[in-house]
Amino acid sequence: VKKIGVLALQGSVAEHLAMLEALPQISALPVKTPEDLRQIDGLILPGGESTTIGKLLRIFGLQVPLQARIASGLPVWGTCAGAILLASEVCGETAHLGCMDIAIRRNAFGTQLDSFRCATPVAGIPGGPLPMVFIRAPWIEKTWGRAYPLAEVKGHIVAARQDNLLATSFHPELTDDLRMHRYFADMVLSQS
Ligand code: GLN
Repeated sequence: VKKIGVLALQGSVAEHLAMLEALPQISALPVKTPEDLRQIDGLILPGGESTTIGKLLRIFGLQVPLQARIASGLPVWGTCAGAILLASEVCGETAHLGCMDIAIRRNAFGTQLDSFRCATPVAGIPGGPLPMVFIRAPWIEKTWGRAYPLAEVKGHIVAARQDNLLATSFHPELTDDLRMHRYFADMVLSQS
């Protein structure tokens, strides 16, 4: 059994924990402290408000230990605000964790009122188009280095992968489709 944490400072934490509980060989736990961080084999950075979560990461003393664990190969998946936290470039703003070779633009798909659902294929995920929920969602303007796109919506990149890192600008935890969580669990289970 591998332990996957969900960063539990702000945002859609409970929804991710519920999805993880449904996966075989995975146990799920909320992560709030450096001690929690030491116990996990993988981490989800949930959606929410990236400015707030970024500040709380520093206040809770998690930023530096998390950057260190990412550098040593911890699988981390950022959804929406979480993807913004991972990016090494945030258009017009300073980066947070700055560890993934993507440039991301906040609120790029519009305001809360422009939130939408769709279904789109994701590279590496079998079984047809994946249902996606976008809420004041960012898009990924470009990938470089070891990062590469996995999915596009309306001509913009909405999912990317780089070694142990995964970024999606949509919210799979707000659907009843487990495939994106299973994809991440496979990244965690395949680590020795
Ligand atoms: N708009 C938020 C931000 O920029 C992200 C929205 C979300 O996570 N649903 O941080």
